[in-house]
Amino acid sequence: MSQDLDAYWMPFTANRQFKKSPRLVAKADGMHFWTPEGREVLDGIAGLWCVNAGHNRPKIVEAIQRQAAELDFAPPFNMAHPKAFELAARLAAIAPAGLDKVFYTNSGSESVDTALKIALAYHRVRGEGSRTRLIGRERGYHGVNFGGISVGGMVANRKMFGHLLAGVDHLRHTHDPRNAYSVGQPAHGAELADDLERLVALHDASTIAAVIVEPVAGSTGVLLPPVGYLQRLREICDRHGILLIFDEVITGFGRTGAPFAAQRFGVTPDLMTVAKGLTNGCVPMGAVFAKRAIHDTFMQGPEHLIEFFHGYTYSGHPLACAAALGTLDTYADEGLLTRGAEMEGYFAEALHGLKGLPHVIDIRNVGLVGGIELQPLEGQPSQRAFRIFLDCWERGVLIRTTGDTIALSPPLIIGRAHIDRIVGTIADALRRHA
Ligand code: PLP
Repeated sequence: MSQDLDAYWMPFTANRQFKKSPRLVAKADGMHFWTPEGREVLDGIAGLWCVNAGHNRPKIVEAIQRQAAELDFAPPFNMAHPKAFELAARLAAIAPAGLDKVFYTNSGSESVDTALKIALAYHRVRGEGSRTRLIGRERGYHGVNFGGISVGGMVANRKMFGHLLAGVDHLRHTHDPRNAYSVGQPAHGAELADDLERLVALHDASTIAAVIVEPVAGSTGVLLPPVGYLQRLREICDRHGILLIFDEVITGFGRTGAPFAAQRFGVTPDLMTVAKGLTNGCVPMGAVFAKRAIHDTFMQGPEHLIEFFHGYTYSGHPLACAAALGTLDTYADEGLLTRGAEMEGYFAEALHGLKGLPHVIDIRNVGLVGGIELQPLEGQPSQRAFRIFLDCWERGVLIRTTGDTIALSPPLIIGRAHIDRIVGTIADALRRHA
């Protein structure tokens, strides 16, 4: 490799290891990437849970190209451009009922911090300013900004960064070995939602603003909500006037077989964060959906005053809005927001066929999300799964590993032959590394 790799400090990467043996992609189309040398690699993870419609989709590419030539930027504060409104209306139309106000950000992390700020400000605006406590969950991932790592529950993402936000507490995570090899939602653990009652008893509801959870936790190894868990969390939040935030950065836009996991699991949050699949990963963009009543609570006082002191230079960027509109068109044309439900059975059967292969200790699935958990190598957590990742990469299949779990989240355009190839390649790798 003649390219100078020195200057780029790579994110969430073992930089020195990577630069000794780099993995680069230079082109993508449909279900595939190509390396600079022209080697084809099947994408088993939709880039990074974001390219839900597959790569290089014409409507999205053309929308971005047209937009760049027509309006490159529009200031978002006290100004706007038409596509920002058009997109918000289109998003509200597919959102869970009642979540019909949309605030734009540029990433999942920004969406999370925005949602937390909306929750805090909402309680203050309506005269309950004592509600300042935020509740997250162990093994949660909510991006890397200070709000997100505070409510998040991954020690590696938290331990280096001081005291984080004050007044945060965490629910217990929902991973339970009794649920090993569940197909779809696991049966055991609805009562884990009662942990919120414990925190209410400890802190008092009058100090708690919001609870944030991922409906399906992705970055800590594909953890599904036990049957009834999210419903119970909703009930407890309602009982105590606590806002419920769903972080749908990975579950949004068809990943679980419905447009949003809230619809898949039949529980509507008060605030919902999205990013990734919003623009099919093509232009950075995130958003927070809010219930109308939350938004309307802010719409008090003199009309000439700003109601919510928050926003980004690139909130609702014209290129991002154009990409998102092209993405929504592509999803609609091809029925992709519900295609995961059609493919779920075949995908689940293929995945669960890996049971019994060397070192596999659990398999989890919902929609087009799959988790294959491996027994860690003694004293070397995450290394076994990483070896499988490297093996698959060398054989032309891109998977992702978090800890010792292989996490699959392929583009929603996936066909049965692709599923066979991804799962077959993993099976061969597991046998080779027995
Ligand atoms: N929230 C969840 C649930 C995520 O999975 C992620 C990223 O994977 C984020 C937030 C952060 O998104 P971003 O990397 O766009 O900031």
